[in-house]
Amino acid sequence: MTLPVSSSIANPAQPSAPNANDAPAQHPVDPSARQIDWLRSLPFFALHLGCLAVIWVGWSWPAVTVAVILYAVRVFALTAFYHRYFSHRAFKTSRWFQCVGAILGLSAVQRGPLWWAAHHRKHHRHSDDPEDLHSPYHGGFWWSHIGWFLTKEHFKKNLHEIKDFTKYPELRFLDHHEMLVPSVLAVGLYLQGEGLAIWKPEWGCTGLQMFVWGFLISTVAVYHVTYTINSLCHLLGRRRYQTRDQSRNNLILALLTFGEGWHNNHHRYPSSARQGFFWWEIDITYYTLVVLSWFGLVWDLRPVPHHVLTEPQQREGQASPQANA
Ligand SMILES: [Zn+2]
Ligand SMILES: [Zn+2]
Repeated sequence: MTLPVSSSIANPAQPSAPNANDAPAQHPVDPSARQIDWLRSLPFFALHLGCLAVIWVGWSWPAVTVAVILYAVRVFALTAFYHRYFSHRAFKTSRWFQCVGAILGLSAVQRGPLWWAAHHRKHHRHSDDPEDLHSPYHGGFWWSHIGWFLTKEHFKKNLHEIKDFTKYPELRFLDHHEMLVPSVLAVGLYLQGEGLAIWKPEWGCTGLQMFVWGFLISTVAVYHVTYTINSLCHLLGRRRYQTRDQSRNNLILALLTFGEGWHNNHHRYPSSARQGFFWWEIDITYYTLVVLSWFGLVWDLRPVPHHVLTEPQQREGQASPQANA
């Protein structure tokens, strides 16, 4: 069942680019491409509604701690693997560790690595132009934040975009059975909570409480910090480089997303393993990748070329000499 996306999502007052000379051209969008598949989107909304169950299950330190740990692990998995590795090949790793990254990423319930990376590659090709999947300048904030991936069109997998990874049958399997890992995680958390209720009743934890905190609340938090990179990081922040899009560097979002908030840097040079280009631009994902490289789990972390680091900052509105990769 599909219904036209409500006007509040499909065509809200679109944010205007801050500089008319610099702004991508505004073009009308084909409305048929923007229909939300409500039936397939039900689990997404149910996951949000389920967070309200915290009113009944309460909280405990073990449940909140597990939620925080799972937030950190999954944000890292999305940024390091779904984004920097599968989408941009910013470092190398072994086949088994690539599979570990895919499984960790799948636990964030943002569909499979092939689906995710294929769509992201298209974003870079068309960033903030009318063919961009999720530009806030061509659909508004809510479209770029959650609307686009709930549409029938974007449930499809564009596997032709990611042929370099579709050759691995284990990745195709995981991508096809995208709810396998999240289901195991949800059941595992429930059983862990039930176990604690039996063996450590003084901790005040239950199966349902662990499920609500560790799975529902933690997942929704990961969702929305991830989505801010598509929405807010093209709206709020500083532009060091005059890329052809409206990407921005934003410290708060960089902290919440473990480095992804240096989005203007990233659009300037997407294939680098680091997105904080300078020492003061905190990039937790990159630091973690460096540590993993000491153990031989990842290698060949692609650096930012010297000419990009030394490129003079340009004032907004100046013509851009460089292209987005
Ligand atoms: Zn972007
Ligand atoms: Zn990217």
